[in-house]
Amino acid sequence: MAKKFYIDAEECIGCGACSDSCPDVFAITDDNIAEITNPEGASEEEIQDAMDSCPVSCIHWGEE
Ligand code: SF4
Repeated sequence: MAKKFYIDAEECIGCGACSDSCPDVFAITDDNIAEITNPEGASEEEIQDAMDSCPVSCIHWGEE
């Protein structure tokens, strides 16, 4: 099973770095917050890269 991860929506500033990095995994909602559209849309390495690209470090491994 794929490793779980989540977005801390309270911290997200809607910058779009995660969706630029992994467009099949993350999207920006109308409320300007990132959401996970497909948790299996990229490899763990690619998701880690998206996490590293988040300026407020609000994407985390684990469960909310
Ligand atoms: S990179 Fe971080 S702050 Fe930017 S939209 Fe994604 S989760 Fe939100």
